[in-house]
Amino acid sequence: MSTQTDLQAETPPREALKSHYEALIIGAGVSGIYQLHRLVQLGVNTLVVDTADGPGGTWYWNRYPGCRFDSESYTYGYSFSEELLEEWHWKERFSSQPENLKYLEYVVEKFDLRKHMHLGCGVESTLYDEDANVWRISLSTGETVTCDWFIPCLGLLSAPTTPRLEGMNDFTGPSFHTYHWPKEPVDLAGKRVAVIGTGATGVQVIGAIAPIVGQLTVFQRRPNWCAPLNNSEISDEEMDEIRKNYEHIFEVCSQTPGGFIHEPDRRGFNEVSAEERRAMWERLYGEPGFGIWLQNFREIFTDEEANAEFSEFIAEKIRSRVNNQRVADQLIPKDHGFGVQRVPMETNYYEAYNYDHVELVSLQETPIERITEDGIRTTDRDFEFDVIIYATGFDAITGSYDRIDIRGRGGVPLKDKWKDGPNTFLGMLVDEFPNMILIAGPQSGSASINFPRSIELSVDWATQLLQHVWENNYNQFEATSDAVAEWAAHVEKMYSLVLMRKAKSWFTGYNSNVEGRDHSKPRYLVYNGGQPKYRQKVLDCEADGYRGLSFS
Ligand code: NAP
Repeated sequence: MSTQTDLQAETPPREALKSHYEALIIGAGVSGIYQLHRLVQLGVNTLVVDTADGPGGTWYWNRYPGCRFDSESYTYGYSFSEELLEEWHWKERFSSQPENLKYLEYVVEKFDLRKHMHLGCGVESTLYDEDANVWRISLSTGETVTCDWFIPCLGLLSAPTTPRLEGMNDFTGPSFHTYHWPKEPVDLAGKRVAVIGTGATGVQVIGAIAPIVGQLTVFQRRPNWCAPLNNSEISDEEMDEIRKNYEHIFEVCSQTPGGFIHEPDRRGFNEVSAEERRAMWERLYGEPGFGIWLQNFREIFTDEEANAEFSEFIAEKIRSRVNNQRVADQLIPKDHGFGVQRVPMETNYYEAYNYDHVELVSLQETPIERITEDGIRTTDRDFEFDVIIYATGFDAITGSYDRIDIRGRGGVPLKDKWKDGPNTFLGMLVDEFPNMILIAGPQSGSASINFPRSIELSVDWATQLLQHVWENNYNQFEATSDAVAEWAAHVEKMYSLVLMRKAKSWFTGYNSNVEGRDHSKPRYLVYNGGQPKYRQKVLDCEADGYRGLSFS
């Protein structure tokens, strides 16, 4: 299998490191770039470290065919610079990975941020040194640097996981996780290809490669409820209109639970007749983006009966789009309702199964026994492949923290502290870990929404907190354990209100590929209270003189 290390062969030359930085950020993705910009603007001596040899985070790594936003492009871009908003032309309503990476590279260049980045270099461990009141950061290149303020910007889905199957290294052809899709083009034309996994990633890959491969076999463990993306190009005239409307667009996003332009229907499910509900769902199914999920009635998220009626509507759509009704039935989830797990947005996904050369293998019926030299063996038969693609997801949110040895006061490992599930204050601070701010950490408002809309809030809050520390000549800040416990209780309560709490998905920390993961209860990884409530909590904390934090 190709791995991260294979992809780092061409690390660019780097400037010599200083021994100490005021701030150190891990991650040159969407949040790391903006956090760096804010600190550089304030003249703070800052270093960004990232294993990738270029900026872009998620959009640097996920180069698989079909990879694109399912947020409207113009709601995903940064809102902090009017000049940037004026300059950038989004070409598609849901922009593709190459364009998204170009955008982030453009931002880095425009704000002259590259010189603060030490790329192609991982962080192995970070230790809070109590005597010196600094963080000691050990890099994969063998160097150690110190910093006063430590800001992990690790992203939500940066720790890919593959199945634990016998023979994974025996396969002689190319095989890789979608996150580690090679930089050089992979020619799939006419090839026999296996895709394992049918989450948002698998669904994008399958729709994109089905028309070009020679043979495609999809290995599906549990189906997902998917809905059409309905992508289209954005003309110059439409982009001009969008530019004029940016203020309004971002205002709408700040008011919706998910940070998208899709506002929930505030009418009660039962206040609307069944015919009217159906007409509305027909309309939403044909419209672009997450409207079908997020512009729906709120009961879809909270009420089993309402959810079941809507799920049946989507099941009918699947049956109408897939010719073979046995396959259609296998593609319809039976263990959860629509929208209870993150909805994959698709382009020609269901139609892919209408090709003669595309086969669906249900792993519930015939599980994989092992990977062989030339393919995959299930309990039913041996398949031969040229390429195996693992679209098998991530150890979400905490996985990327666990992969670094992060130790706080008294050498406490964060991994141990979060063993039974993470606890944080506002998703940004952890007790016993002074002078550390997580951007998009577990239980933050960034975890289940249109990412940039929330990280701008978090980065601004973090920057404001640091300014407060500097203005008051403090050396140290830390969340109190009471504040962390209070936030944990609030996060848990928000889970109790939504059907999502029952889902076997990354929102609840479900991942069968993580050895030793206890699935007897959910891991409370995301904040389900919605963006407006989260924003209010964060701003209230600041307005109350940083209630929940101790300073010295
Ligand atoms: P995912 O939603 O966790 O899906 C992983 C898939 O792999 C599931 O179908 C899972 O089956 C299957 N799988 C995992 N381990 C397996 C095993 N050992 N054997 C067989 N099948 C296995 O991961 P993802 O598709 O990468 O998506 C993760 C998240 O990334 C999304 O929810 C979304 O937030 C984000 N994403 C966003 C975009 C976008 O913005 N456009 C695109 C792609 C992804 P089970 O369901 O049975 O576990």
